[in-house]
Amino acid sequence: MIPLSRPDLSDLERSYVLEVLDSGRLALGPFLERFEEAVSRYTGRPAVAVSSGTAGLHIALLAVGVRPGDLVITTPFSFVASSNAILYAGADPLFVDVEEDTLNLDIRKAKALLEREAERTGKGVIHRPTGRRIAALLPVEVFGHPLNYAAWRDLADGWGLPLVVDACEAMGSFYLAGNERFHAGALADVAVFAFYPNKQITTGEGGMIITSREELLPILRALRNQGRLRGGLWLTHDLVGYNYRMDEMSAAVGLAQMERMEELRIRRRAVFERYDALLQDLPEVRRPREAPYAEVNWFVYVIRVPADRRDRVMRHLDDQGIEVRPYFDPPIHLQPAYRERYPNLAGRFPVTEKISREVIALPFFNTLTEREQIRVVEALREGLAA
Ligand SMILES: *Cc1c(COP(=O)(O)O)cnc(C)c1O
Repeated sequence: MIPLSRPDLSDLERSYVLEVLDSGRLALGPFLERFEEAVSRYTGRPAVAVSSGTAGLHIALLAVGVRPGDLVITTPFSFVASSNAILYAGADPLFVDVEEDTLNLDIRKAKALLEREAERTGKGVIHRPTGRRIAALLPVEVFGHPLNYAAWRDLADGWGLPLVVDACEAMGSFYLAGNERFHAGALADVAVFAFYPNKQITTGEGGMIITSREELLPILRALRNQGRLRGGLWLTHDLVGYNYRMDEMSAAVGLAQMERMEELRIRRRAVFERYDALLQDLPEVRRPREAPYAEVNWFVYVIRVPADRRDRVMRHLDDQGIEVRPYFDPPIHLQPAYRERYPNLAGRFPVTEKISREVIALPFFNTLTEREQIRVVEALREGLAA
C-alpha cells in the first residue's frame, strides 16, 4: 500500500522527546519556548503555540475582536476547520468563491462584495443586506499556496478589517515581493499554522499562531491558558479562556522538525518535482502551479482531472493499493453540518463546486520513492484511459 502521507521523523525528534520524559516536566516547560522561538525566527513574527490549528484559529478570531452575531468573509474551498472556528466565535461565515488557478479565495470577488454590500460606519463595516457587522477577513492558503499579500493588505487596510490567515497548510511557504521574501502569514494581522501528522511539519497534534500586532500577544497567550493574563494587564478579570496549551512532548517534536526544516523542504520539493515531470505527458491532468509571487512548500499534491472520470480514477488507484482522497469534496458549504445551518448555498460558488469535483490528492510525503511515484502515475494513466 502507498499511503497518502507519512511524517518524516528522525533520531533528533526521538532524543528531544526522551529529554522531556527524563526531565519530568511535561507541560509549560523549556521546549514550548524553544519551539515558539524557532518558529518566530523562521517566520519573522512572534509565535504562540497551541494544541491544534483549529484552536489557534478560534482564539485568533477572538483576539481580533470577532463577536457573536458578526460575519467573517471566508472561503468554502477549505478544510472545514477554517469555517468552524468562525462558528465557535458565535459568528457566521460570509462565503466568497475561489480563483481557478491558486484555489485561494478570489480577492476580486471579496472586494466586489464589500463594494456592493458593505459600508463603513462608526460601528465598523456593516453588511447592508443583513445589518450585521463584518468583523474580519479569513482567507486560507490552500494546499500551501500563499495569498497575494499586496492585494490582501490593501483590501484589509482600505476597509479597516483585520486579516486573519488560515496558514494551516502553508508552513515553509513564502510570499515573494520584489527582492523581499516573507513567510506565509507574516503579513497577516494574525496567522495560524497546524502540525497534524499529515502537514509539512508535525507535533502530533498542535498549532502555532503568529502575529504582526504585538499588542495581541498577551491576549492570545491568555486565551490559550484559561484566561490567565501575563504581566497583569487591565483587560482580564472576566476573560474566559480555554485550555489550548501545547504539551512538552509535542513541542519537543516540533522543535526538532523546525531544526530540520530546510532538509524537510528540500525533500518535499524533490518529490513535487518528480510528479511534475512524470505527469507532463498526461494532458488530462492539471498539475499544481505556483503564482509568480509564490514559493510553495506543498502540503498535499492535488491534481485535477475531468469531473466525469474523477471517481472512476480514484477507485482504480484505490484498487491498486494507492491511497488517494478528494481534497476538498464536498466543499464546506455542502457539508451536511453546513447545509443544515445554511440551506440555500448550493450553486452559489460555481468555481468551488466545479473544482471540488475534479480534485484528487495523490500520495505525497518526503520518503515517497521515485518507483512508487511511477506506480502512482501509471495507475493514474490506466484509470484515465479505462
Ligand atoms: C489542518 C487544517 C486546519 C486545522 O488544523 P488542526 O491542527 O487539525 O486542528 C485548519 N485549516 C486548514 C485549511 C487545515 O488544512
